Amino acid sequence: MIYCCEEHVEMALEAVVDEFETFPLLSKLAVDNLSTGCEYCQNPATYIVANK
Ligand SMILES: [Zn+2]
Repeated sequence: MIYCCEEHVEMALEAVVDEFETFPLLSKLAVDNLSTGCEYCQNPATYIVANK
């Protein structure tokens, strides 16, 4: 599962496809969960990319 900001959604999707060879699930983070940071930069994460 990868937390990412809006800017790095595509990067996270590709990472999941590469690593797990399954179609990734993209979910929007709850608004009250702003303490989690993006995997690729310093921004707060907006999305969670998960493999099933
Ligand atoms: Zn980012």
